[in-house]
Amino acid sequence: MSIKLSKRQQEILQIVKEDGPITGKQIAEKLSLTRATLRPDLAILTMAGSLDAKPRVGYFYNPQSETKKTTANLSKQLVKHYKAHPIVVQKSASVYDAIVQIFLEDVGTLYTVDEEGLLAGVISRKDLLRAAIGNNNLEELPVSVIMTRMPNIVTVQPDETLLEAAQKLIHNHIDSLPVVREVDKEQKKYEVIGRITKTTITRAYIEMLEI
Ligand code: ADP
Repeated sequence: MSIKLSKRQQEILQIVKEDGPITGKQIAEKLSLTRATLRPDLAILTMAGSLDAKPRVGYFYNPQSETKKTTANLSKQLVKHYKAHPIVVQKSASVYDAIVQIFLEDVGTLYTVDEEGLLAGVISRKDLLRAAIGNNNLEELPVSVIMTRMPNIVTVQPDETLLEAAQKLIHNHIDSLPVVREVDKEQKKYEVIGRITKTTITRAYIEMLEI
């Protein structure tokens, strides 16, 4: 995903491409603006990696930034190449066991499956905390009582893009998506084959930018 530049930022980039290295003061003069006005734009361009700045030299264009921008494109990466292993429990498991699993596996979300091994629900950390308040018998309480259940689960398929996965995470205000293979589309029966979390997306982004 590349940052959309404003008209002024594009002008600055053009000036630096042609005349760099160039000081902030000189750029400001060319645009008939004050340095203070330009400061936020220069900061954005530098942070985005389009420009580099060296003290006493000025701003210069970073040709690598174009390659980075095309490489770091979530819409070109597929879920199947980034998915992590899903942590799954039976929906008959107790809330106590789910809490233990969350710690043992070091994850934030568990997926539950039914007797056929198909996706039944999602349990997040907050679901478990909520269940723990006022319930003193967590060993007797099945996770199926507290989980978010089908058909309300937001899922992602292996051939969808990381951008689509990231959008689902953000639009639904959730931390993780089960990656599923359809067993029966009409009856919404899914096998869980992985997970995509906000960490997966962040890690993918870092990997793409570090190339
Ligand atoms: P936390 O509860 O730790 O903040 P989430 O933000 O992921 O974690 O979960 C918020 C709520 O959304 C929880 O009730 C959880 O069961 C539910 N949830 C989590 N992931 C999904 C998903 N993929 N589809 C539907 N609901 C989900």
